[in-house]
Amino acid sequence: METEKTREQLLIELEEANETIEAIRSGMVDAFVVRSENGPQLYTLKTADQTYRILIEKMGEGALTLNAAGMILYSNPRFAEMVGLSMDQAIGRCFDDFLPGFTTSNYNRMNGNGQLTDFKTEDILTTTEGKEIPVLLSMTNLNLEDGTALSIICTDITAQKEAQRKGADLDNQRKITAQKDEFIGVASHELKTPLTSLKAYLQLISNYKKEIVPEPVKRFIGKAELSILKLQRLVDDLLDVSKIQAGKLNFSKIPLNMNDLISACVENAAYMYPDYNLQFTPGYDCYVRGNAERLEQVVMNLISNAVKYSPVNKDILLKVACEDAQIKVTVQDFGIGLSEVQQEKIFDRFYRVNDQNYMIGGLGMGLYISTEIMKSHDGSIGVTSKIGEGSTFHLFLPSL
Ligand code: ADP
Repeated sequence: METEKTREQLLIELEEANETIEAIRSGMVDAFVVRSENGPQLYTLKTADQTYRILIEKMGEGALTLNAAGMILYSNPRFAEMVGLSMDQAIGRCFDDFLPGFTTSNYNRMNGNGQLTDFKTEDILTTTEGKEIPVLLSMTNLNLEDGTALSIICTDITAQKEAQRKGADLDNQRKITAQKDEFIGVASHELKTPLTSLKAYLQLISNYKKEIVPEPVKRFIGKAELSILKLQRLVDDLLDVSKIQAGKLNFSKIPLNMNDLISACVENAAYMYPDYNLQFTPGYDCYVRGNAERLEQVVMNLISNAVKYSPVNKDILLKVACEDAQIKVTVQDFGIGLSEVQQEKIFDRFYRVNDQNYMIGGLGMGLYISTEIMKSHDGSIGVTSKIGEGSTFHLFLPSL
């Protein structure tokens, strides 16, 4: 075959190649020509040198060479920039100017025992303007003809340190939150026992029939019962929050008629908030699978919020509707309203709008618990609102 080279030809080419390599190694040549399809091309040893130089000059890390006295023999532009100098100004400076005490300790470390050739350490570099930069220094000792030298790659690790610090802050935050959760769990349990006996004693007093109880005392008993009810709700909310944290908010579900459920809530609320005007528009054929007690808790929380945050306009509108295989429940008020930023945060645990104009009591647990209850029903909760115009809270549940 014409294209196939003979053994003799190959041997000649191999010998030529060996001669070229030997010539390059011994420094006899510093350029050679390669015949290629595009004609002869000239390669010089400078080409290889230049590749490394460009790499070092363009790289994102500082690169420098020090002599045994710690003087900078070479600095790439990045290192010069790091310390706030031009390349010309950096060369000839003592590295200890930027990292005091560096030279002695590191030369001892690397050359003292004659074994260590590569070494990495983290330290703080001080720029000419006095700014401190955390850096990772990777050092290698070089045995140059004119004496021992040290090559250093200097990486700015400010971003990593910042990320580490944020990670540690986050860990700390998580620990504090876990401690808080544990405290809430224990405290709510401890509160439940005396509360139960207080309720029982109050019931005994109000059922007391032996002697006639004076009217003012009866009124006081009524007030005490109301306060205990509030306390009971607070303790129940605290217990719910700690159950959610422990992933133990479990409940059973059955088919429910949402019109009946909302109707019962409205009736209850009308009794609790006689000053308010509650209007309910039921929907057609609105069934869901859920836990009646928990869904009532969500709706009652929305109604009690509508009452709490609407001190002037006392209309509250409730509506049930079926929308795209979803049951939508809305609770609308015409109260103080919420800004967009507040709307994003109100479903977070313990979040409360800090408005000095309205000193309304609460712990910011209701909407958080409601969100978790809705999630457990494969549903959702949301709000649309405008400051000063009121809020509309909506619940979505899969229709049955
Ligand atoms: P609480 O009312 O006990 O503080 P919630 O979790 O129920 O806790 O509500 C969180 C926050 O959301 C409230 O502190 C309040 O600032 C805001 N909010 C809730 N409902 C309404 C509403 N209907 N109108 C205006 N703001 C509301």
